[in-house]
Amino acid sequence: MTAEVGDDVMGEDPTVNRLERFVADMFGHEAAVFACSGTQSNQMGVRVHCLPGDELLINETGHISNFEGGAPAALSGVTVRTIVAPDGMLDVDVLEGKVRVNDQHYARTRLVCLENTTNLGGGHVYPLKQLQRVSDWAKTNSLKRHLDGARLFNAIVSGGYSAADVGACFDTISICFSKGLGCPMGSILTGTKDDIVRARRIRKLFGGALRQSGIVAAAAIYALENNVVRLQDDHTHARQLAAGLAAIEGIRIDVERVKSNLVFFEIEATHGLAIQLAGALREQGVLVGPMGGQRMRVVTHLDVTTADIPTAVDVFRQCMAQGFKDRPLAGSGPYSK
Ligand SMILES: *Cc1c(COP(=O)(O)O)cnc(C)c1O
Repeated sequence: MTAEVGDDVMGEDPTVNRLERFVADMFGHEAAVFACSGTQSNQMGVRVHCLPGDELLINETGHISNFEGGAPAALSGVTVRTIVAPDGMLDVDVLEGKVRVNDQHYARTRLVCLENTTNLGGGHVYPLKQLQRVSDWAKTNSLKRHLDGARLFNAIVSGGYSAADVGACFDTISICFSKGLGCPMGSILTGTKDDIVRARRIRKLFGGALRQSGIVAAAAIYALENNVVRLQDDHTHARQLAAGLAAIEGIRIDVERVKSNLVFFEIEATHGLAIQLAGALREQGVLVGPMGGQRMRVVTHLDVTTADIPTAVDVFRQCMAQGFKDRPLAGSGPYSK
């Protein structure tokens, strides 16, 4: 609240400048630019690398292609080629053969987008070797490499590698401050000096150039200094929650597959739909995301304490035992229907 601020559109907000320098250095990139949201910083990345008529490669579960309102097409004239591969990840074996021949019939394959951790893919964490392998493959094929790192610090903490290790694998990286890092808002895009100069123009075009944004950049600096190491607690809580849920009749979950702060599982159809269970849980103060049909996602984060975990498990057990299949299909959000 006491952050020193200035006009960031003129490059004169000292707190934003400090955040951008701090993050760029951390990833070994030349520059960075603060953005309003992860959608905005991802789409700035897409537009930096691509021209209208270009194509990007992404896992079919990717946020950039599923949850950003059709932005690659709407904002940049970019077409998306989705690839089916497990856990929301991509590797060289599935990418091989997906680069189109340079011919007038085809879109120009220009960019490969990875997501780490994967969201819809299940909260999975890329091993560093795999990031490096895909990165080398992309370079060999003259493709640009963008990372949707909305939860990149969860991946870094869980994967045991460094920000610089990840930075070396990508041309641009987008990171969210408003997820597990706990900020009220904000994201950032890192990359080369030239790419970030262009990203700034694009941010302006997308309406994301802010004035006294130091007031929120200060929260991001605080989060990077104080809320990264503790992400391990969220992962521990996620595991504990998963173990608790696994013992409840009607819930199907593989505890071993929980790798970060996202816990995905399914409820048996005889009990009802995920949207109905979510409604029953909400009445008891447990907020979870129905993911369509039987699938659910629970997220642990810095507002969830160790003591909250058994409480949440108890509420789940109660709701599952009481039944909910006659509840109205009330709810909002992308999976409400
Ligand atoms: C949340 C998220 C984003 C960005 O979302 P915003 O709500 O626009 O900040 C991007 N990618 C992934 C994987 C996400 O989970």
